[in-house]
Amino acid sequence: MDVHKIVIIGAGFAGLRTALELEKRCARMKSCEILLIDRRAEHLYTPLLYEVSSGELQASNRSCSGDLKSGVCVRFDAYVNIVKKKHIRFRRAEVTGIDREEQVVLLSGGERISYNDLVIAMGVEVATFGIPGVAEYALPMKTLSDAFAIRDRLHGFVQGYIDGKEKHLSIIVVGGGATGVEFAAESANFFARLASTGVLKSADYSVTLLEAAQNILPVFSESVRAVALHRLKELGVTIQVQTKLDEVKKGRVFVTGKLGMPSEYPSDVAVWTAGVKPMAAGKAWGLPTDERGSIQIERSFVVVGEKHIFALGDCVMFKHPKTKTPVPALAQVAVREAGVVAENIVRQLERKLPVTWSPPERWAVVVPMGGKYAIADFGKFHLSGTLGFFVRKIADLFYFLSILPPLEAWKFWRQGADVYAKND
Ligand SMILES: Cc1cc2nc3c(=O)[nH]c(=O)nc-3n(C[C@H](O)[C@H](O)[C@H](O)COP(=O)(O)OP(=O)(O)OC[C@H]3O[C@@H](n4cnc5c(N)ncnc54)[C@H](O)[C@@H]3O)c2cc1C
Repeated sequence: MDVHKIVIIGAGFAGLRTALELEKRCARMKSCEILLIDRRAEHLYTPLLYEVSSGELQASNRSCSGDLKSGVCVRFDAYVNIVKKKHIRFRRAEVTGIDREEQVVLLSGGERISYNDLVIAMGVEVATFGIPGVAEYALPMKTLSDAFAIRDRLHGFVQGYIDGKEKHLSIIVVGGGATGVEFAAESANFFARLASTGVLKSADYSVTLLEAAQNILPVFSESVRAVALHRLKELGVTIQVQTKLDEVKKGRVFVTGKLGMPSEYPSDVAVWTAGVKPMAAGKAWGLPTDERGSIQIERSFVVVGEKHIFALGDCVMFKHPKTKTPVPALAQVAVREAGVVAENIVRQLERKLPVTWSPPERWAVVVPMGGKYAIADFGKFHLSGTLGFFVRKIADLFYFLSILPPLEAWKFWRQGADVYAKND
């Protein structure tokens, strides 16, 4: 019997869930093999990344082992043994190209892997918009190693302060979206804890959040924004809106503020959360992309002009059929899309018409804001403070339950919760 080979590029939220959804439908394909290829060794749970960037764990613990793995990443080698899915295999490798004629994926070592159906779920990369010094002197917040790099810098400065080599610590966070707000709140909370135990004087640190638009959290409602602003001020974060970053240099950032006034700020640690862009690979591999670089897809998630290549997650832009606005780049969106992709791969084999997706117009989002405080925005209403924090924790648990057996999910969630409670 011919085995139907499905190759998935990227084992993040979209790719991993597509594999799990395909596994559920394997009987309908008679015989199938699902190969997940990722250049990373682990599946990263980004919603808790901010906990790593201010975590009080061993500075040398950079790998995904030890305490830190407990909350944010699931190693693929361990995962295979835990979930024991018969048809799913993992391969750690960098995909460098695809040969659409031959239906082959090219790996960095020169190896060629054939497929019957290909799923592209490779996410996005950091965009600096050509602002001088961002790539050199600002730290992004996208991957596990980014979070460690930020954490190392924060701890390095605190150590320097304790040793008397540093007098003042200035943190600049660029970008007032959810990631920037989370990180600003978390780092301010981190310093407040140090101040409360006498390690640092309150006057000796500052956290400043810069946002080019009129407001922080621009896609959130006025009431959610008001709660967030209040919380940030309570934590001592200085917020500068309508402030455009012009340049980052070692130890300083240069901006244009309201009314076009240029100014500058000291910056011991500059964190860049203001932009991502689709992977350049989409275009380089000859796939149709829009002006931003997102892979163009039909409503069935098949790539425009292709029959056996599907794409989903952050690397595509799916416009809501009613509102015509793009669905947000969120993990929860990516996992919902995965079910449609898996179903359509199987339906194509069954010679049935594809299903199309009608996403909700609003998505519930939780923004953690330092310590046991979060804002859970459900659209019509929101919960903030400890209640919001519990919603975050429950959402985390539900995610782990969706990718791991119940007992393993519980253990994983508990370990993470215990480790990160030390941050609060
Ligand atoms: C700090 C932070 C916090 C966030 N918080 C939330 C939140 O609270 N809630 C929420 O819903 N969303 C959140 N998000 C957004 C969420 O992480 C993304 O929407 C989600 O990761 C998109 O899933 P994806 O599968 O498309 O991409 P990813 O999860 O990024 O997965 C892409 C995978 O592809 C792999 N890959 C890429 N190119 C190649 C290649 N050439 N070869 C091999 N492998 C490759 C990458 O290694 C990666 O594992 C957050 C994001 C960040 C950065």
